[in-house]
Amino acid sequence: MKTVSIIGAGPAGIEAAYVLAKQGVAVSLFEKSSSPLKNIADKAFLFPNFAAATDIVEQMNRKLLNANITQHLDTDIVGLVHEGEQGWKLTDNRGNSYYSDNVVLATGYTPFDAHRKEELGYGIYNGVVTSLEMEKMIRYNQIVNSMGEKPKRVVFLQCVGSRDEKSGNHYCSKVCCVTAVKQAIEIKKQLPDAEAYIFYMDLRMWGQHFEEMYRQSQQDYGVRYVRGRISEASGTFDGRVQIKAEDTLMGLPLKMTTDLLVLMVGMEASEGTRCLAKAAGICGEYGFAQSTDPHLGDNLTGQQGLYVCGACKRPMSINDVVNDGRAAAFAILEG
Ligand code: SF4
Repeated sequence: MKTVSIIGAGPAGIEAAYVLAKQGVAVSLFEKSSSPLKNIADKAFLFPNFAAATDIVEQMNRKLLNANITQHLDTDIVGLVHEGEQGWKLTDNRGNSYYSDNVVLATGYTPFDAHRKEELGYGIYNGVVTSLEMEKMIRYNQIVNSMGEKPKRVVFLQCVGSRDEKSGNHYCSKVCCVTAVKQAIEIKKQLPDAEAYIFYMDLRMWGQHFEEMYRQSQQDYGVRYVRGRISEASGTFDGRVQIKAEDTLMGLPLKMTTDLLVLMVGMEASEGTRCLAKAAGICGEYGFAQSTDPHLGDNLTGQQGLYVCGACKRPMSINDVVNDGRAAAFAILEG
């Protein structure tokens, strides 16, 4: 049976490893962090069913107990090259080499760095946080403003670093609309007296039960929606954040003060994705890895023994990447 190296122990990489290992394939799973599932570990609940992220992490970690999976944690793969009959050669940051017949690139995404949108005040005003930081606050039941007090108002801003000429990302990050709806509901559950506003360009409730969540957020939790983009955020003397925006439905400029401004940051290709996709000659738009065909070859790369799965190709939700990891495993078993 052929050997497989999987680069990235996120949900896509783990699912691919699990399916292959169950079929008796020897899998080496490489992860640059000290533990798998780094991008999920600090999440509170997952849309659309509000499943506890800790349960998903626990279940996925159990999949790694298969004896055919060898984990290489703290191992950053920085080189990837095909060496004829020896197969694929992977090189880590310490100069060690590993060979295998097949490689699955599952290097995932990195969140957009909100510092790049200077006008929104991230890193300048303590009341401006990212959606990842809000997720942690929700998880640990510590939703507080810059003064350490319970916020009376929380404002979400969509499409930060996505669909944005200035940051160079024209694509939609797919999950941030529904994440904002989910987080707004969570805030109202923990702090029923707080106001929650979501500023959006348009809301993309693409998945099953998303539209229902959106409706529920308004009817049951009183979340308010404003169509418009926030152009500027500035700090106030009492540690709050003042935003300037335009309500594009009303055609009116507006100013609002909030305790917390949550920036819904998009997804970008991770450093590992950019580096390895380039090394292997499969680098596509925006640094994401490119498959041969989005319909019938979405895990294939046109290179023998090299496969791709998950958010290293484009923004995806967690259930998307799990299914895609599974699909990559079956592509290898088939090939
Ligand atoms: S999912 Fe929503 S918030 Fe995210 S980029 Fe797309 S439209 Fe913007």
